[in-house]
Amino acid sequence: MKVGVFKKGRNLPRVKADNLAVVVQALRKLQPIARTTLADVTGLTAATITNMVDELSDLDLVVERPSEERQVGRRPTLLTLNRDRGQVIGVEISRSRVRVVRSNFGGDVLARVERPFKPGAVKRNLAQIKDVISEVAGGPNLLGIGVGVPGPVSSALGLVVSPPNFGAWQNVELAETLGEAFGVRCWLDDDAKTAAFGEAWYGAGQNVSTLLYISLRSGIGAGLIVNDRVYRGTHELAGEIGHTTIHVDGPLCECGNRGCVETLVSVPAILLEARRLGLDVPDLETLRSLADAGEARAVQVRERTHTYLTATLLNAVNHYDPDVIVLGGQLVAAWPDLTEALAAKVKGRSFGFLSKDVRIEPSMLGKDATALGGVALVIDQVLRDPHGVLKPVEHVESAD
Ligand SMILES: [Zn+2]
Repeated sequence: MKVGVFKKGRNLPRVKADNLAVVVQALRKLQPIARTTLADVTGLTAATITNMVDELSDLDLVVERPSEERQVGRRPTLLTLNRDRGQVIGVEISRSRVRVVRSNFGGDVLARVERPFKPGAVKRNLAQIKDVISEVAGGPNLLGIGVGVPGPVSSALGLVVSPPNFGAWQNVELAETLGEAFGVRCWLDDDAKTAAFGEAWYGAGQNVSTLLYISLRSGIGAGLIVNDRVYRGTHELAGEIGHTTIHVDGPLCECGNRGCVETLVSVPAILLEARRLGLDVPDLETLRSLADAGEARAVQVRERTHTYLTATLLNAVNHYDPDVIVLGGQLVAAWPDLTEALAAKVKGRSFGFLSKDVRIEPSMLGKDATALGGVALVIDQVLRDPHGVLKPVEHVESAD
């Protein structure tokens, strides 16, 4: 008999771990927070909250301070996550650069470095990546490394599978390699999904339940965050918005499809269209200046880009019904008016209430989005499974 796949039940130890995760998530989002409020929002009893806070205190993950507010009687104490619990490294690996940030446990960036990068031979590339990380990795108590890298990836296996235009990289065990090199756990995800996670934690998408991040650069990717989780799909290919069709007879794409978003409004595609019209512009900034000055062909290229991106956003709004769409990447950096122009065009082109409510905003984290997303990946793992993740760190410390 075929039984199929069922949602799994939870045994008692798992229930406890889940409750701890719920408490920690509420703490992260609502801090500083009183114990009574924590009990209210999580639906757990005061006694359970006490147990869990004790457990988190033992792991040095929370600190409790008297509230600044003076009230009649006893001054309430407020809980916050311990920003000084340890340090985290976040990494972005792209086709042109490696960008690394080192942050505290609160996501405050303490150091950052960016170096040019060219995908090629894997061994040489890995040595380069380790070198860049080493430039900022100093400091005690490193808790982990989180990496955003061009997909497709296997986040569960820490594997970079086969990114297009990425040298000889095929099934590279990047998480294990970096973890071993720095003596900590390492997690990775697709770059756009990682940036989405970064915006959800530290940027334009805090306190929303559904966030779509779209990265507009040489490739076009997206990451969808639903209720604090990255939505991946069966093959971790969810969010390949760059390969959805917006022009059925359009140019052939390397994915095998025609008229993909990426063939029409990726940065190279925009510059190619300008050249086709006889405008030999070196970059997006020059194209923007010409359009601002009223150069007819530059205006035409910009209008065409707006039209195709509007279609892309409308499809996304109708597919995902997000609270917010965050636009990031090189195109957004080069054309600062882009996001507002697209938001205006999307309004009124979908179900009225839907497009009226959806926020379309530029990335708040800019160039740090993916690296800070890497930081969030690590802190998320620590908070979801503090005993499991922090144990090896304790071990490393005691060996010193
Ligand atoms: Zn395609």
